Amino acid sequence: MMKIAVLIKQVPDTDDVKLDPETGTMIREGSGTIINPLDLNAIEAAVQIKRHRKDDCEITVLTMGPPNAQFALREALALGGDEAVLLTDRKFAGADSWATAKVLAEALKKSGKYDLVLAGEKATDGETGQVGPEVAAMLSMPCATYVSAIEHNENNVVVTRTVEDGTEKQRIQFPCLITVLSALNNPSMPTLRGKMNSRRANIVTMTSQDLDIKSEELGLKGSPTRVVKVTTPQKTRKTKRYSGSQIEEGIRELVEEIKTSVLNQ
Ligand SMILES: Cc1cc2nc3c(=O)[nH]c(=O)nc-3n(C[C@H](O)[C@H](O)[C@H](O)COP(=O)(O)OP(=O)(O)OC[C@H]3O[C@@H](n4cnc5c(N)ncnc54)[C@H](O)[C@@H]3O)c2cc1C
Repeated sequence: MMKIAVLIKQVPDTDDVKLDPETGTMIREGSGTIINPLDLNAIEAAVQIKRHRKDDCEITVLTMGPPNAQFALREALALGGDEAVLLTDRKFAGADSWATAKVLAEALKKSGKYDLVLAGEKATDGETGQVGPEVAAMLSMPCATYVSAIEHNENNVVVTRTVEDGTEKQRIQFPCLITVLSALNNPSMPTLRGKMNSRRANIVTMTSQDLDIKSEELGLKGSPTRVVKVTTPQKTRKTKRYSGSQIEEGIRELVEEIKTSVLNQ
């Protein structure tokens, strides 16, 4: 049986994200949370492979996060995951992408022998795009990033990577890790049955005690990078609004503006 692991991250609902103007950090309290959108594409890819293999496939979803990240896992189960693993421990707090990948890689080693690991290309909050490739490196797995199409065979996958000047096809042997783009597929909605089952589903919880990682390699202590400051770009554009009878005047002014800027170039 093929075993697929999908790494999912619970992120703030981007419409809700607020930054503290003093510190430049994200205000997470009061924000809704969602599954990182690209991780939905990763789940959908796993579900499609499982369907193609006539269910001869098992999908495990894993996340490292606070206890409430179980809701992201339950949603992933409703979307077609078979098993869920929550990696949660105060010692994991403050992890950068390296310390996050360390926990995920170790949990993957402990929870099963996976043929394929899927992750999003990047998360909407941290947005480093480092976690997938770091996990692959820690597990000594080949890795393909920016994947927009997957053809899977018995022993390998052929992936299409969207790169700057076109696309690139790669054949990679299992076990391997793939990070996906939104162009890969259209994520499905959870079914009512899936939602009902996921509410009752057992979620395997792992803490630092279940993983073979030294405590100085966990969380903030084990993080070589620090986010020193985050700033919001200032909006410098001046805007004017015309409506109703002012529209013609607005068009005249816009034409003049364009003429002037073209002449000044
Ligand atoms: C505003 C901001 C800036 C940050 N900047 C940095 C930085 O510059 N350097 C740095 O090292 N860290 C940074 N972090 C911390 C970073 O969010 C965390 O380390 C995070 O756990 C992983 O990084 P990421 O969000 O960039 O993930 P990415 O690497 O962008 O995520 C790619 C994929 O990896 C998987 N994944 C990521 N995190 C998890 C998880 N916790 N559980 C399961 N799967 C996961 C998902 O499949 C995801 O789609 C920042 C955080 C914030 C909020």
